Amino acid sequence: MGKVIDLALTPPNRIEKLDLVILPSGAIERHGNHLPLGTDTIIAQEVARRVGSKLSQRGFDVGLLPPVWYGYTWSLRHLDGTVSIDPHTLSKYVEDILTTLPSPRISRILIINGHGGNKEPLEVAVKEALLRLSPGIKVGFLSWWDAVPKEVFLELFGTMPLHACEIETSMIMAICEECVDLRGVEPVEPKDRKLLKSLSEVRMTFAEGYLGDPRRASKEAGERLLEIIAERLAETIAKELEEEEIGIE
Ligand SMILES: [Zn+2]
Repeated sequence: MGKVIDLALTPPNRIEKLDLVILPSGAIERHGNHLPLGTDTIIAQEVARRVGSKLSQRGFDVGLLPPVWYGYTWSLRHLDGTVSIDPHTLSKYVEDILTTLPSPRISRILIINGHGGNKEPLEVAVKEALLRLSPGIKVGFLSWWDAVPKEVFLELFGTMPLHACEIETSMIMAICEECVDLRGVEPVEPKDRKLLKSLSEVRMTFAEGYLGDPRRASKEAGERLLEIIAERLAETIAKELEEEEIGIE
């Protein structure tokens, strides 16, 4: 059995070599009036915790970093409650985390992301960090929905993920039931994606700050999805770590 260590709460002299460190990232962004502003970060942090615990059950030692709470929000930045970080600032900020963190104890870092807008800035951060780090250090990035095949979303929810829809609502119900308030929520149909778009059209699409039908959310489906994501990710990571141990690369 391995260990899961909260790196913000543990002095470094009590940390031995870690197999993996996880950095969750999300956003402070309007999610209608039914979900908390921190939804994306809360989900990323929960996925990171579950992945850490599943990897420790497989014998690996995992460090959890405090999340990057703020993200880059483009389409919902005009809505009350949203905080957006300039994408270059965000990218540089995360690049600095990734380049100052490695030590003899830490040589593999995985970002688990919960906010769509962070994808490009954080992928650049990872690439730039790899250029600055010593060549043996490994860094990875993925958003939680990348770990889920389409069929799983369709079977559990009958839809693919949309902003603050029944999927995110279900996940938050499973993590923090009292954080969800569905009073006054009506379904909002997503509009067809067009090749050419104006800012005003994008803002109209997100006028309510959510899409889909959050009333269809369920705590049980959210719990199942969180478990599926964590299990699939832990499985993939464990395989990579084991292959590295026996020298297959
Ligand atoms: Zn979200």
